[in-house]
Amino acid sequence: MRNENGLVELDSYNRPKVCEVCGGVMVFQGVGEYQCEECKAIAYDDYGKVRCYIEKHKGATAAEIEMGTGVKQRVIRNLLKEGRLEVAADSKVFMHCEICKKEIRTGRYCPECEKNYHRRVEEQQRLERSISMQGFGLGQEEATGEKRFRRER
Ligand SMILES: [Zn+2]
Ligand SMILES: [Zn+2]
Repeated sequence: MRNENGLVELDSYNRPKVCEVCGGVMVFQGVGEYQCEECKAIAYDDYGKVRCYIEKHKGATAAEIEMGTGVKQRVIRNLLKEGRLEVAADSKVFMHCEICKKEIRTGRYCPECEKNYHRRVEEQQRLERSISMQGFGLGQEEATGEKRFRRER
């Protein structure tokens, strides 16, 4: 999604743009926090609200966070999937690995499944590389020493 300035809209997390107190411009301060450049009022986007709530209520469930912040559980789960939030170690965990369903604290996969995923991608890379090294591939090798090597043989 692009906004009126042609910039890619960074988030859909209800970013505060205008100060509710004085109508001033809200300036991004980091980690979901915004401050009015006029009256210095602080406001949070959904990410900031959830992050603050989790800091104060360690071990909160998604339902409790939704009740406390008004941020929808779907949005909370998205934040977790994007790795922007991490569930506290002592939390009643509400994230599950999308592959093996094991309980996780952030992201979409448990560390093992993530590693396995990367191993598969790497294996695929090796396969593609070995195919192109055998001369079936186009590009790169054509420009390098490959041709000369073949001629010498
Ligand atoms: Zn203000
Ligand atoms: Zn897993």
